[in-house]
Amino acid sequence: MADTITFLGTAGARFVVISQILASGGLWLSLSGTEILVDPGPGCIVQSTKRKLRADKLSAIIVSHRHLDHSADVNIMVEAMTKGGFKRHGWLFAPADALETEPVIFSYLKEYLEGIEILQEGKSYSIGNVSFDTPIRHIHSVDTYGMLFRTAEHTFSYIADSRYFDGLCQNYGGELLIINVVRLESNHPYDHLSMPDAEHIIMELKPKVAILTHFGMTVWRAKPWKIAQRLSEQTGVKVIAARDGMKFDLSQLDNS
Ligand SMILES: [Zn+2]
Repeated sequence: MADTITFLGTAGARFVVISQILASGGLWLSLSGTEILVDPGPGCIVQSTKRKLRADKLSAIIVSHRHLDHSADVNIMVEAMTKGGFKRHGWLFAPADALETEPVIFSYLKEYLEGIEILQEGKSYSIGNVSFDTPIRHIHSVDTYGMLFRTAEHTFSYIADSRYFDGLCQNYGGELLIINVVRLESNHPYDHLSMPDAEHIIMELKPKVAILTHFGMTVWRAKPWKIAQRLSEQTGVKVIAARDGMKFDLSQLDNS
């Protein structure tokens, strides 16, 4: 069965998201027949319905961290996943601080879910016939995890928001890397990955394909598709800049 990833948006961080220069909305994974939504940022309900992706087919929603650009539409997507709450269905995965003192999800909607699982460092989870690990806690201002997914046919990683640190890349791998690259330059003390960080990660992990997404304003102004082209030449790995609505078929990885 096919494995595909649809980019419901490619905007990262505040300014590109609040201006909607690029859409935001997260990743829609369709993996061996299991549908999973990752990081439902603002507009996820609009972007997914526009693309005829059926939220009631989702088995789970995963929130990498509580920042708005990753979680703003989680409530409406839970409502959509559960057919307006009439069908108790689906799971929510999120770090503890997204669920505790100031939960990203309204309490009345929790009743609609089959359950909630807390993401923790070094744990493995399964959803239908897909499994994923959250190998390491990222360095970000809130509890944040990336994911290493395994399907029957493919292994790929989603490296969510983080400051670069030694040990970040060793914990990820697979034929495909999706990297949230907010910043163009690395000379800033921010908790986000930059293009030089992405280049380093790609060189370390040598995936078959790397997809850059979650662009901040500096990356957007520098034309991410041009940066991807340059990184492809420098690393020898096929690097793609995601576009809003792009659907990546993982079968492309099989014969490359
Ligand atoms: Zn963040």
